Amino acid sequence: MYGHVCEGWEKIDPVSSPDLRPQSHCTMRLSDITRVLETWAPPVLQEDYDNSGLQVGSPDKEVKAALVALDCTEEVVAEAVKRGCDLVIAHHPVIFRGLKSITGRTGVERTLLAAIKQDVAIYAIHTNLDNVITGVNAEIAARLGLQDVQVLDPKPGQLLKLVVFVPNAHAEPVRTAMFSAGAGRVGNYDECSFGHEGQGTFRGGEGSNAFVGKKGERHTEPETRIETVLHAPMERAVVQAMLKAHPYEEVAYDLYPLANNHPGIGSGAIGRLPEPLEEAAFLAKVKAAFNVPAIKHTAMRGKPVERVALCGGSGAFLIGRAKSAGADAYVTADLKYHEFFGAEGQLLLADIGHYESEQFTMHLLQRHLRDKLPTFAAHLTETVTNPVHIC
Ligand SMILES: [Zn+2]
Repeated sequence: MYGHVCEGWEKIDPVSSPDLRPQSHCTMRLSDITRVLETWAPPVLQEDYDNSGLQVGSPDKEVKAALVALDCTEEVVAEAVKRGCDLVIAHHPVIFRGLKSITGRTGVERTLLAAIKQDVAIYAIHTNLDNVITGVNAEIAARLGLQDVQVLDPKPGQLLKLVVFVPNAHAEPVRTAMFSAGAGRVGNYDECSFGHEGQGTFRGGEGSNAFVGKKGERHTEPETRIETVLHAPMERAVVQAMLKAHPYEEVAYDLYPLANNHPGIGSGAIGRLPEPLEEAAFLAKVKAAFNVPAIKHTAMRGKPVERVALCGGSGAFLIGRAKSAGADAYVTADLKYHEFFGAEGQLLLADIGHYESEQFTMHLLQRHLRDKLPTFAAHLTETVTNPVHIC
């Protein structure tokens, strides 16, 4: 179980940690915690401008408990210390651009100084969590009660096809090795592959040590051609597992980039409400779900809302995509004045606020950690980090 250190369990005081379940918790190595998060939202999926990942602390650090937040601020670090947490997991990276000094001149610098001084590690899981369908946008869709949720703008180049030729008797172990390393997942199915039997030929030259056949003579071997699909970041792991299980000295295999989209990787999401709602009723539902006193939106079109597109945080870049996907409404944040014109009367554009749209990301993170690491303590911050106030 991800290298738990269970000797000498740390007891965390449930009084100072109100969301803690009454049980003992293990300390864990930081790298084992981040591995769980990065299996879910691989860092390679973050946008070019982003800086997700471990920002403060050593991967070898033994962690007692994590405090989960949307932003890592000075107040959040102070709360972590007070509650016995030595790791802050935040959606937004505290270090976003390069720093030339850390003197305490800005809030970011003071946050870092406090964290380092008090041995609190900081980890950010930002656009990589935006870009998986089970991430930030899944939580927003769930809060709106959407069904049939799909990625709004799939990220290209995410899928590879692996074809390998294996002597028939070894086809099954090679298949199993590739599946175990993560190949063969298609939607709700796993262990997907195609096999076809044929004949392979080869002739071993000087220095060869063939598994079958004689050196210097052409050998014909009954082989199975196995095809499977994989997510590009898994390439190394899958190919290594395949090579390890394959009996040949020189393995014949091909990797093809696919033009197909990965259904679970990309920006934004789109789904449908169980019942169409009048626009005013839809906006009231959004206000209630996200506890916002006001929403900035474009003119109502007098049409019911059923297909809803959404993107947590700054989502102006997906307005065109939401329109072409046939959304009746697009819920996002950080829209500028001129970007509201982009609705062009084709949908209802709603800006609910950046913090508001992503506020439940910490609940999502906590649930994932509790699910995958049930003996590790992950608490929700009680600090409201939203710098924007509405009166
Ligand atoms: Zn954000």
